[in-house]
Amino acid sequence: MPQTALYSYLTMPVVIDFHTHIFPSAYKDFLPEKSAAAIERFRKQARSWLRPVSRTLHKTQTVLRHLPEPARDRLDRIGGLAPLPGLLVESTESDLREAMREYEVDRAVIISHPPFIPNDFIIEAAANQPDFIAAVNIPTGTRGPGAVLKKLHGEGARILKIHPAADGDGLGAPRYKALLRTATDLAMPVILHTGCLHSKMIYRDPGLGAAELFKPWFKAFPETVFILAHMNFHDPTTALDLAQEFPNLLVDTSWQPSESIAEAARRIGAERVLFGTDWPLVGNNIRVGLRRVRECVRSGMIKPEDADLILGLNAERLLGLCPSTSPQSAPTS
Ligand SMILES: [Zn+2]
Repeated sequence: MPQTALYSYLTMPVVIDFHTHIFPSAYKDFLPEKSAAAIERFRKQARSWLRPVSRTLHKTQTVLRHLPEPARDRLDRIGGLAPLPGLLVESTESDLREAMREYEVDRAVIISHPPFIPNDFIIEAAANQPDFIAAVNIPTGTRGPGAVLKKLHGEGARILKIHPAADGDGLGAPRYKALLRTATDLAMPVILHTGCLHSKMIYRDPGLGAAELFKPWFKAFPETVFILAHMNFHDPTTALDLAQEFPNLLVDTSWQPSESIAEAARRIGAERVLFGTDWPLVGNNIRVGLRRVRECVRSGMIKPEDADLILGLNAERLLGLCPSTSPQSAPTS
């Protein structure tokens, strides 16, 4: 191996995708092995056919924010359904493993979304698999939500996800208080869905994704690390305003163009930005997400060492995956 190649191999930074979802396979357990293998071959082929579509969707999504609000809301309603066909060809645990291998991603946070992605399914997928980190979401109507979270933590859950826009519950719901108290006691980071994607087909109350609504939680739980998933989607400026005000907030890069990722690093410090892709929604997210972070470096908007932090070192530190650091020390800028 030439010396430069050896050097880059030895210094290859860790890459952790902090925001993915894997879906149970719809047919593998029911179909004969031969038929399942044939379907797998077809799905793989179909993924390459869908690449131009997903490329266009990724590009379109980042410019929607510049449209006047009524037009954007109308497009959100249609666009919110666009990811769904892609899930037929890219969504399972083995699909994610294939994408991770292809793009050299070391670990992925896999996030549940009951009832479509049950907590037990996520816990089982992450059990004894060091490259998967389980994030659980305790659904509306769960009795004793704090106790349920504690049990799942005992079974391997490392992160709590809260998604009020999908739940349709106001932020004052007692369930959320119980969950936040338990997560704080267990020193679990909390991923919040942020951003208003106006699709009632997907979310019960899209408005509950507005990042500013969570302010009372940031104040009430200052020792808890909150990750603002999607950086508030169409409105990353508000997410960064909040992160500047509350040192216990981090943001993830999913659905954000290079300019917003660089802006986040500049305003709150690269050590509070986590690489996340929301794989597999829309398709080919890992490639697109990595390219956006690397584009920040290529264009001189961030330094290579900032990219290393964003791509994996921050997640490693937050989750206590590197031996010399404490899992719950919230990085501050
Ligand atoms: Zn997601």
